[in-house]
Amino acid sequence: MVSVRSSLAQLPPYVPGRKLPGAVVLASNESPYGLLPGVAGTLSELAAGVSRYPDMSATSLVQVLAAHHGVEPERIAVGAGSSEVCGQLLHSVVGPGDEVVFGWRSFEAYPILTAVAGGTAVRVPLRDHALDLDAMATAITGRTRLVFVCNPNNPTSTAVGERALSDFADRVPDDVLIVVDEAYREYADPALVPDALALLGDRPNVAVLRTFSKAYGLAGLRVGYCVAPPELTAHVRRTQVPFSVSALAQEAAVVALGERAEAARRAALTVAERARVTLRLRALGFEVPHSQANFVWLPLGDDSADFAVHCLDGKVVVRPFLGEGVRVTIGLPEENDALLALAAAWRG
Ligand SMILES: *Cc1c(COP(=O)(O)O)cnc(C)c1O
Repeated sequence: MVSVRSSLAQLPPYVPGRKLPGAVVLASNESPYGLLPGVAGTLSELAAGVSRYPDMSATSLVQVLAAHHGVEPERIAVGAGSSEVCGQLLHSVVGPGDEVVFGWRSFEAYPILTAVAGGTAVRVPLRDHALDLDAMATAITGRTRLVFVCNPNNPTSTAVGERALSDFADRVPDDVLIVVDEAYREYADPALVPDALALLGDRPNVAVLRTFSKAYGLAGLRVGYCVAPPELTAHVRRTQVPFSVSALAQEAAVVALGERAEAARRAALTVAERARVTLRLRALGFEVPHSQANFVWLPLGDDSADFAVHCLDGKVVVRPFLGEGVRVTIGLPEENDALLALAAAWRG
C-alpha cells in the first residue's frame, strides 16, 4: 500500500453542479447564451489540428490579452481555467506549512488547491454575506504567503468596494501575494465594484485573475489567466502543467475576446434578469443579498437542502451549500421564471 499525504484525507471534494438531462441547469454560473459568434466556426476549423501539441506559450492569446489590458505580455500568464492559475499562483509562493487566507464561504477550489500545494488554509468568516477584509487583514501572520479576495464573492454574490479594497491592500505586507479573483467582473457595476487591475495593478504583490468560463461562454474549454508582476508570472508559467491550454481553447479565447461587445451585451441581459429575479424573490419573502455576479445567494441555512430538492423535483438544478444557503445562477428569462414559480410554490 502506498502512503498518501495525510493532509489530503481531510479535503472536501469539489462538488460540481449536477447534470440532469432535460432539466434547467442554474447550478454552475455558466452563461446561458451559448457560444459567442465565430467561436463555433473557429473550433471546427481547428478540430483537425488536435493531433499536434498546442503553442505552449499561448503567444497570440497572451498578445491580445496584453493589448486588451494595456500591459506588457510578460505580465500575463494563462492556464486551463483560472482555477489552474489559482493553483499555479499557490505553487509559486506557498510551501509546506505556509498559510493561505481567504474569506469563508468563498470559492470552493481555494481550500482544495491550498491543501494540494501543501499550504494551510485560514478561513475568515464572512460578515453580512460579504468578505470581512478587516478581519482578513488581521488574520495575516508571519506565515501567510497568499490571500484570496474573490470579488464579487462566489457563492454569496456580494462585492467589496474600492475604498475597502485599497485600504486592505495597504495593510497587507509586501511579501504576501494578494490574488483578486474577478471571475464575475463582467456582471459587476463598475461604479460600485473596483477593477482591481486599475486600482491595484501597479503593486508588486497583486495578481488579478480573470476567466473565459463565465461571461465569455467557454467554461467547457478551460482557459483563464492572471495579470501580475513579471517576476511572478515567470513562476506561474513554470508551475503550469505543460500544454494544459489546448489550441482550441487558445484560439476560441482570442475570438471570444474580439466579441467582447457582444459578451458585454449578454452580461447586461443577465444583470437585468438578476434585478428582476432579486425583486421577485424578495417579494416572496426570501433574503437576497445584493448581487454583483451572474447568480444570487439565498441564505436559507438549514432549509437549503429542502429548497434544492424541491427545485430538483421541479426539474431546476440549483447549487446548495448544506446548512448555509443556495446559489442560483441567472439563466434565460424562461429558466428564471421556472425557478421563480418553484420558489413561490415552496413559500406556498
Ligand atoms: C467560476 C469561477 C472561476 C473560474 O474557474 P475556471 O477555472 O476559469 O473555469 C474562478 N473563480 C471563481 C470564484 C469562480 O466562481
